[in-house]
Amino acid sequence: MDKEVRVRFAPSPTGPLHIGGVRTALYNYLFARQTGGKMILRIEDTDSTRFVPGSEDYINEALAWLGITIDEGVREGGNYGPYKQSERRSIYHEHVKILLDAGKAYVAFDTPEELEAKRKEIKNFQYDASTRQLMRNSLTLGEEETKRLIDAGEKYVVRFKIEPGTDVTVHDLIRGDVTINSSVLDDKVLYKSADDLPTYHLANIVDDHLMAITHVIRGEEWLPSAPLHVLLYKAFGWADSMPQFVHLPLLLKPNGNGKLSKRDGDKLGFPVFPLEWHNPVDGSISSGYREAGYLPEAVVNFLALLGWNPGDDREVMTIDEMIRDFSFEHCSKSGAKFDFEKCKWFNHEYLINMDDAKLAGLFMPILAQHADSAKFSHDYVTKAVSLVKSRITFVKDLWDQAGFFFEAPTAYEEKDVRKRWKDDTPKVLTELIGVLEGIADFTSKPSEETVMSWIEKNGYPLGNVMNAFRLTLVGACRGPHIFDITELLGKEETIARIKEGIAKIKKADA
Ligand code: GLU
Repeated sequence: MDKEVRVRFAPSPTGPLHIGGVRTALYNYLFARQTGGKMILRIEDTDSTRFVPGSEDYINEALAWLGITIDEGVREGGNYGPYKQSERRSIYHEHVKILLDAGKAYVAFDTPEELEAKRKEIKNFQYDASTRQLMRNSLTLGEEETKRLIDAGEKYVVRFKIEPGTDVTVHDLIRGDVTINSSVLDDKVLYKSADDLPTYHLANIVDDHLMAITHVIRGEEWLPSAPLHVLLYKAFGWADSMPQFVHLPLLLKPNGNGKLSKRDGDKLGFPVFPLEWHNPVDGSISSGYREAGYLPEAVVNFLALLGWNPGDDREVMTIDEMIRDFSFEHCSKSGAKFDFEKCKWFNHEYLINMDDAKLAGLFMPILAQHADSAKFSHDYVTKAVSLVKSRITFVKDLWDQAGFFFEAPTAYEEKDVRKRWKDDTPKVLTELIGVLEGIADFTSKPSEETVMSWIEKNGYPLGNVMNAFRLTLVGACRGPHIFDITELLGKEETIARIKEGIAKIKKADA
């Protein structure tokens, strides 16, 4: 039997989770759930200079909102903890020592000024096999001097000693084999004595190994680091348990030119973060999908299809379908255009497919802001919502579309009045009141039949009568089927509104 799939989402707490990071988390989640494996959340906080307070809570809250559940992590616990890198220092010390003792890494004392001087002196300087003998490190200074300097408290780093001239191949489940020559790599810093912390590269691969990660699924921006990671796996003697790599395509600007950035969102008016973010450093606020009125299911569906397709033209899919049908074979190598209009479309689709009573529940707080919601039964609100939901993108749009069900018009759309309110309209509508009063079953169909035959019998112009009627009920010539409106408003309210309209609406040329 294959070993249990273990994937990890490994964000750094350097600010709010970008929507691209959410997509990475989602693909990890889909794969973990499909395979019955484990989804791990690891906090990569080794870069102390970029730490932003509140980020970790934000990440947890965002994933919870989206329904991306975690099996092992800082909050969830698990057998492979700690799940926060700043709590794993001793583990990294141990592993740095393993590489140093094996001669696969070395200590370097070069100061920033010395490095800068070398960069000026040597064109395209890179700290590697061709230059390391020119530098101040344990290879050139010898063991004793190195020890003396360390004991004297001189700051140092540990660098990975990369052997030049060998081909390094990364097996990627989306991209196939990606091969580079080790000579292009520099001797990456693995550890810094200044803050006693490992760098991303060391911590990342040590943790992936110790946490028994089987698939590293992450953004394409990490592909250039992958050959180094392969070499580190080999240096530790872990080549046999190397995870599968999966580098997901970039998210591109809506016009397809270049990587999606926060600025694109600001400029074009869409969020690039799942939740609103209050920046603790400068007090600025960035918008989020949740606060903008998106349903988490819609955001998830939208993101799932940014870089993956189910192999057919399905778009709206349940999470279970996505889990079942997800595959790396159907992930694209090329970047995915971030078409936020499509996200609105998904939101609309999810809202119209939602159970009416549930949608009414989501609308209640908005209704309460505008009207005395206690006056209306849940059933009434549910019916109102069901009649207009085909016209909305966000729950908040329900007030614009259905507000007239909860309060009689106080003003009448001028251009509709001009077009539809004729000299004889008050007379015709007064007659209509009589017709409506005589209807015993005030539901949509019978009301429609009675009113239509009255119009026909008298030879009234259908368009004008119906639009003037609508104007008195809605305040404008828009809204759902008129007899669905009258059914819900009821006879008394319908007639009251017609009377009010007759009293208030002044004909266009008066
Ligand atoms: N900490 C890295 C990040 O913030 C993780 C990259 C990886 O998944 O290896 O994206």
